[in-house]
Amino acid sequence: MSDRRAFLESKLSEVQSKMRPGVTLMIVSKTRPIDDIQMYYDLGVRDFGENRVQELFEKSELLKKRCPDLRWHMIGNLQSNKINQLYSIENLFAIHSVCDQALLDKLMKAEHRLSHPVEIYLQYNTSKEEEKSGFETYTEILAAAEGTRLAKNLRFVGVMTMGAIRTENFERDAGNCFQELQVEKAKLEAELNVKLKTSMGMSQDYEIAIREGSDCIRLGTMMFV
Ligand SMILES: *Cc1c(COP(=O)(O)O)cnc(C)c1O
Repeated sequence: MSDRRAFLESKLSEVQSKMRPGVTLMIVSKTRPIDDIQMYYDLGVRDFGENRVQELFEKSELLKKRCPDLRWHMIGNLQSNKINQLYSIENLFAIHSVCDQALLDKLMKAEHRLSHPVEIYLQYNTSKEEEKSGFETYTEILAAAEGTRLAKNLRFVGVMTMGAIRTENFERDAGNCFQELQVEKAKLEAELNVKLKTSMGMSQDYEIAIREGSDCIRLGTMMFV
């Protein structure tokens, strides 16, 4: 076994030892080499996230034969002129970064191009940090969620957020962001009578996210270095 494989395997078991059953581990492979993705796939990981459509598309082309069951997740800001390319990705599984109504409208308008169902998460800006995208009020996110009922291939499955980083006490503030997302999720579930998931937790705050009941953690940096 190569040193690199042994290293990635140790990273994986470290994280898995902290996960509750039922939590999905998505490995964020943006900027990381194809070989690392392949090794994680061979170790049993199926969910991978990217934040740029072009890079996601290229990686999916390179890996589609070798990793046929890989599930790709789009997690980054999405420009509307990239939607068609995103939709052409065979193993596209979910889009976590649906951050406003205008983007949702465009995604829905083009959804006939999809040849299979794709999960969508509405992104909520819980930290209210300027540089972060996402819905900022419950009224807006509820209206968007209601609109997804008309979709055929896009399946509204949950809400996503990023924890606060520009803060003195990021553990406390990340915890508050994750709790707020759970509250919004519960309100949507009650209002729409659906069961939803939360996508929350990155390298620096994933243990807090797991404690707050995350269904999907998105880990980049710590899985590779
Ligand atoms: C990059 C990124 C991650 C992973 O962040 P790390 O700190 O590298 O674990 C998770 N979610 C989103 C939306 C990202 O852009």
